[in-house]
Amino acid sequence: MKLNKEEVIDRFKEFYEAYPDVSEPKYKKLIDKMKIEGKSSLYIDFDDLIDFDFDLSEQLLNEPEDILASPSQALKEVYGAEANKRLTARFINLPPTERIDIRDIRAVHINKLIQVEGVVRRTSEVKPEVIEAVFSCERCSEYITIMQDSHIFKTPVTCSNPACGRNGPFTLVKTYSKFIDWQNIKIQEKPEKLKGGRLPWIMDCIIKDDIVDLAQPGNVVTIVGILKTVQEGSTKSGGKKTTFTKSIEVNSIEIKEKDIQDLELSEEDEEKILELSSDPKICENITNSIAPSIFGNQHVKYAVALQLFSSEARILNDGTRIRGDSHILLVGDPGVAKSQILKYINLVAPRSIYTSGKGTSAAGLTAAVIRDETSGSFALEAGALVIADNGIACIDEIDKMSNEDRSSIHEAMEQQTISIAKAGIIATLNARASILAAANPKRGRFDSYKPLGEQIDLLPTLLSRFDLIFILTDKPKESEDKKIAEHILKLHSNEKQSIMPVLGTDEIRKYAIYSKKTIKEITLTEEAKNRLLEFYVSIRKKGEEKNTPIPITARQLESLIRLSEARARMRLSDKVMVEDVEDIIQLYMKSIEEIGKDPETGEIDIDMIMTGRPKSQRDKITVIMDIISNLDKKNNNEGALTSEVYEEARAENISDSFTRKIIDELKQKGDVYEPRPDRLKLTLL
Ligand code: ADP
Ligand code: MG
Repeated sequence: MKLNKEEVIDRFKEFYEAYPDVSEPKYKKLIDKMKIEGKSSLYIDFDDLIDFDFDLSEQLLNEPEDILASPSQALKEVYGAEANKRLTARFINLPPTERIDIRDIRAVHINKLIQVEGVVRRTSEVKPEVIEAVFSCERCSEYITIMQDSHIFKTPVTCSNPACGRNGPFTLVKTYSKFIDWQNIKIQEKPEKLKGGRLPWIMDCIIKDDIVDLAQPGNVVTIVGILKTVQEGSTKSGGKKTTFTKSIEVNSIEIKEKDIQDLELSEEDEEKILELSSDPKICENITNSIAPSIFGNQHVKYAVALQLFSSEARILNDGTRIRGDSHILLVGDPGVAKSQILKYINLVAPRSIYTSGKGTSAAGLTAAVIRDETSGSFALEAGALVIADNGIACIDEIDKMSNEDRSSIHEAMEQQTISIAKAGIIATLNARASILAAANPKRGRFDSYKPLGEQIDLLPTLLSRFDLIFILTDKPKESEDKKIAEHILKLHSNEKQSIMPVLGTDEIRKYAIYSKKTIKEITLTEEAKNRLLEFYVSIRKKGEEKNTPIPITARQLESLIRLSEARARMRLSDKVMVEDVEDIIQLYMKSIEEIGKDPETGEIDIDMIMTGRPKSQRDKITVIMDIISNLDKKNNNEGALTSEVYEEARAENISDSFTRKIIDELKQKGDVYEPRPDRLKLTLL
């Protein structure tokens, strides 16, 4: 039996005052609390309503348009609010049948109350929307109030003054009209729903009143609202189209804490996981199960496996936050399965996204303030790293990222936030994602005789933020080539079983979820600590003794701790043992040997990543600068003769071409200038 609006109001009054019991009315108490706290929203658990009156709850789900205002009206009456106070009853926790995936929203849901979940991709500015428009008749000055209950602005047809009754003109009197806050947000499917590189579907949501500006881009939200439709714009011939665009008129919005835990594991799963973890070779087993279709690259597979587990962020006493996520960069020749590895991780990770350096949205990798095409107003849009918050962002061809991203990605990698202040929008968004990136060398192929910084289009400051960098080269080597070819051929024949991994992708994913859920506080044992200390000090000392470059800095020590913790987690242990550290040191040395080796001297040099130039070259630059300075002094500070600079450099075994390159660079940076043609002078002195 259907109730009319008045009956619904009465039922809700009873619900507030007598559910579950007159002596203990749950919602009456919440209403009293609303008064004290000055809140204007009452949140109703839909389960309670079902329990109180099943038919009423059904009617609300099926015909919300007609009666959704009634619970709010009843709220006003129970609250004892004056007529123009805005109070809203909001519903949360709809039954599972009404929880719809954004992708599955269809015509049957139109004008129904539904619940959707998604990540906020874009938030518009908060604007005033008129709900009661007061007009004045220009002929007789009569005021006419028109309620604005749809998205199309309504104006009076005739004057309501019987003595006038003419049809205008009317002007809007803004001071007497009533406005509420209005905001449009776009939500998209959660990353975990987008397995296999599907593009996200997006839903427009209209938010009003006190719940505007609650959600930020990157937040995971649960929205309850009515699915509305708006007829699409006119066709070329002037008529309207038969298709409609859809949007959700939001009744309630809840921001969910992102946790891996909402992915359910069965008891069976847990048993299996514990069994797997008891194998002393668990780390090897997981590594060997990563991307089984790719041959070799064992250390890369190990590194990305560690990334799946990662560590927990630490908040220090002074409030600084140290990230627990590791960032990994794969650099290398084309066709060495870099993209393949990224795609595999995107498939296996509990929460991840796969994107190219350019990003798939207008916001690119980080975030951007965007002007909305239709409304012309500004909106804040989340980029890939914000959407991948609490997961892994697989960024292919990261060297192709936009200049805006280049300037904000440093903050995203270290502080794991993205701050934006533009066009009046100021926000700090969370971007707690691990980055797994791939980059191609500038000149197509990697040249192992040149420092990394010179070969890829990424700043040394950015490179130094990666915990591990691997170089994958495609050097022909007969024995390897044969093995890879055999491996690929196997994949394409019915021998597939022979390369079956120990753990399938589902098992790895579940294992990672379980370990992140159960292993929270990871500590280093004394022996593990000592081993790290010993390693750090010995390597630093090596540099000192030989007066060679500094091979390791505090940042790398943090990386080693992070990775060791991830390895403990992989074993389902919260204690980092000395074996974990030992293993990670090996992996780390493997990465460092590839990227930090000075091609001229063979010494390992972390600064090379920072400055993009090995010490042997940095030394030469210092020599050239000294030559300029000395010659300048000899010439009574009138500048060094350029030809003499080349001559003296040659005497120091520095080639003319290198000297020319360095002089050009120094001139460009402003460290050297030409007081006269053919003369050079240092700016610094
Ligand atoms: P990249 O992104 O490095 O340019 P891709 O990931 O697109 O390379 O790989 C190119 C192709 O070569 C893929 O189909 C990949 O499976 C294959 N391939 C390259 N190296 C290997 C390998 N070591 N084992 C198996 N397949 C490989
Ligand atoms: Mg590629």
